[in-house]
Amino acid sequence: MSLRDYANDPFLQRLPTEQEAEIEGKIRDWGLQDQAFYERLDNWFSNFESEEDKRLAYKIFMRIKYYNYRQFTRRLEQLYDSIKRHLHATNNDPGNLVLVTPPGEGDSADRHAYDLIKSWGLSKEQVCSVAELDPRAFTDPVFILFNDTHGTGNQFLRDIWPRLKQFGEHKIFVLAIAISQEALHRFRREMPRVHVIPHIPVQSVWALFTGEECQRIQALGQKVYPKHPMGYGNAGLLTAYYFQCPNNSLPLIWADGKNNTVDGAAYAWRPLFPYIPKRLSKGEVPKARNLSKTELGKRAAPSSQDRNILAGEGARKTEAPSGSGFRYHYRVALIDIDLGLANLLQLAQELNRIQGFFHFTCPRIENVDRARNALLDIGGIRNLDVYGIPEPFFSEYSDLAVDLVACFTRYPLAFTDEYVHYNYFSGPSATDARFMFVSANQLQLFTREAGCTFEQGLVYILVGQLVVYFTDIGYHEETWKCPMDFCRIRSEIIKGLKARAFCDKCAPRLKDKALHKALDALLLWAPINTNGMVVNCAR
Ligand SMILES: [Zn+2]
Repeated sequence: MSLRDYANDPFLQRLPTEQEAEIEGKIRDWGLQDQAFYERLDNWFSNFESEEDKRLAYKIFMRIKYYNYRQFTRRLEQLYDSIKRHLHATNNDPGNLVLVTPPGEGDSADRHAYDLIKSWGLSKEQVCSVAELDPRAFTDPVFILFNDTHGTGNQFLRDIWPRLKQFGEHKIFVLAIAISQEALHRFRREMPRVHVIPHIPVQSVWALFTGEECQRIQALGQKVYPKHPMGYGNAGLLTAYYFQCPNNSLPLIWADGKNNTVDGAAYAWRPLFPYIPKRLSKGEVPKARNLSKTELGKRAAPSSQDRNILAGEGARKTEAPSGSGFRYHYRVALIDIDLGLANLLQLAQELNRIQGFFHFTCPRIENVDRARNALLDIGGIRNLDVYGIPEPFFSEYSDLAVDLVACFTRYPLAFTDEYVHYNYFSGPSATDARFMFVSANQLQLFTREAGCTFEQGLVYILVGQLVVYFTDIGYHEETWKCPMDFCRIRSEIIKGLKARAFCDKCAPRLKDKALHKALDALLLWAPINTNGMVVNCAR
């Protein structure tokens, strides 16, 4: 696949080989080498009309800093290392960290709290919303505030700082992926003793482009989004994340002909990385969340590698959520990649009826082809190449208010890193560990043999994935008629499908009672009307 194959834009078509290679190198670094992104890039260049403007677009493109899931997560880990070094130097302990979440719900602050809890292995007691901060609740707290981007610092200084300063500036860490020069200045001026990381501003148009180029960018921005031609707060950032493009970045990057509406009219423009204004996501009504009271699960320890399920890399081993008080409902989206399940929604409703720990939803899906086409032929058998699914498939769901996404496929699963692991029943994506894949390959046959329905089989495999995600339990090599059986021989699953219960080894390890109860309910679930579930599956 190359840029030239997809380019309609005359500038891109005639691009010298060297520049073409530069663009392609960039796309590779970003992990975005798929048809959809090439087309988006082509559309984006077509926004610019003159040769000169297109050359400017090229320069902007080459200066953009895009964080895909992997890079974003890696950055979070680096930030945690910084914190740990500070703690070490002051004889403090990571157990004293308190992640303070900003006011507002269902937006990026919420998802970041979730990311940090996962990446840093924080416990639920270590998360508190700014509105509920109680000085008496902590003995020697170190407060962490994280936001992906600080463009002006206004919101922070207005909404959060006044409530926080009473705790002592030196005990507060303000972390971000990108901080503008202006935000950094203001933070230093108005809260000089607070630790701000990083303390180097992110590169902006102002620093990277000549005065003349800045003028031209401003003039174009004036047409595209006269309200903020250089991005909110005049920040001129060139940063984008896999889940969102900050509005402090240039509107030339994110305007989509809707989000740049001013007085009811918008300048026609195609985005490179869209900015999604705060809103309810497609067809989903996010439940009010209160992260200070949530019980977020942790990813499994990497010990389950080379098991039936490959655990995501960089996972931290943490205790399972413990049950008391307010119960957060984990939202799990069910996605049918290629099974043609006629009644997935009904399945979700049934599963919601029998337990309350998980809330299953069936979001509307648009570009499922991206996943559908990632097939790998191994010994004449087609596998869904989970690690080969292009990133845009995942980023499309980034604004869904769900904790996990379960993707069902008719193919066996392959995971290709140094080796090719294939013929798997289930496993998470490496691009975004919230995505778990469940293979229904030969399941029709196995469930018939076991005397249960196809949907019960799907749920059975899903349960194994939920265990891996929410506990430190992995798959066992031995077949103990348990959802955690590895099943090197695929048909071994029939034994477990007959029993549909955890084995004596696994059951006592499910420490969280509410989780255990919900998983048992899922395993024992039987459809009210077996005829109601029509399945059209090839195998
Ligand atoms: Zn077991």
